[in-house]
Amino acid sequence: MILSDYKGVLVYIEQRDKEIQKVSLELLGKGKEIAEKLNTTLTAVLLGFEIKGLSEELVYHGADKVVYSDSEILKNFTNEPYTKALSKIIESEKPEIVLVGATSIGRDIAPRVAARIKTGLTADCTTLDVDAETNNLLMTRPAFGGNIMATIICPDHRPQMSTVRPGVMIKLERDSSRKGEIVEFDSQLSNSDLNVEILEIVKEDKKKANIEDAKVLISAGRGIGSKDNMAVLYDLAEPLKGEVSGSRAVIDNGWLDKERQVGQTGKTVRPDLYFACGISGAIQHVAGMEESELIISINKNPDALIFEVSDLGIVGDAAKIIPLVTEELKKI
Ligand code: FAD
Repeated sequence: MILSDYKGVLVYIEQRDKEIQKVSLELLGKGKEIAEKLNTTLTAVLLGFEIKGLSEELVYHGADKVVYSDSEILKNFTNEPYTKALSKIIESEKPEIVLVGATSIGRDIAPRVAARIKTGLTADCTTLDVDAETNNLLMTRPAFGGNIMATIICPDHRPQMSTVRPGVMIKLERDSSRKGEIVEFDSQLSNSDLNVEILEIVKEDKKKANIEDAKVLISAGRGIGSKDNMAVLYDLAEPLKGEVSGSRAVIDNGWLDKERQVGQTGKTVRPDLYFACGISGAIQHVAGMEESELIISINKNPDALIFEVSDLGIVGDAAKIIPLVTEELKKI
């Protein structure tokens, strides 16, 4: 393998029902930054059926080139046709770096593609950077049960592949004046590639809370004390138009649903305000919320780790302080 044959950054664009997933736009933002550091270009790869119309949107969000493959076989995600199409495009484009969102689809397709094109994959990254001297991608992810952050490189193989958690990178401002190249790729798929038959598609309940999109999160830890005390968090969330989330301890206690868990084994969030109430600040929790714009914490222990990542810390009993904050907010 001649490493210098591989050039550019490629982002796999995940679309569901022709809707580009947020993580893909976030990866275009990060991909653009890396491409600029390496003085190279950013390519977006779009797979699906009747999806060409989405290509310009990808250019507006930073792509210099869009390679799309349109086939009825790609209408719904099934791993074999998608793996085949993405592998072929990578083999043809020869990018130096490939980024995929660490969603259920990304986690399915990325390892299959990596195996097929015989390269390594660093899964579930939370930070990416690049060493402009060696062109090595510095891929950082939690390791050893989340107790350390490991930075991994792939020095001998190309492309360097990484899946990246949703919510940790920042998408670029949409710029509709941007121009880019849009190219169709024939993945040469046939019905024989469809080795899975879809019997039924069960859509996610849209009314369910999506803490990843919330601008304000009122987050509970074990220090809240009981399920009944959770009511004070909902009262505070209301005037702030926020959602309620929690640490794993709270989910394990059955005080909140699993979909509201923040952290390494929950969701990664980046709200404008993260209000941590009775949360210790364990590394596995902090990994999921430290990028929040403003972090306010209440903890009765002045040495709690959560204060190290907080912009404002309040030492005291959360169940007593939260109603006072709510009362003041209601006066505004
Ligand atoms: P505790 O650690 O029990 O802390 C409670 C805090 O509340 C303390 O700081 C205490 O001082 C404070 N307190 C007590 N009473 C009050 C009061 N009246 N008022 C104010 N403060 C009070 N955790 C996650 O959150 N998300 C994850 O995704 C996650 N993934 C994990 C993955 C692995 C592999 C492992 C090993 C662990 C994971 N954990 C995760 C668990 C994590 O290590 C912690 O155990 C967990 O975050 C602790 O939750 P907590 O801070 O709510 O509870």
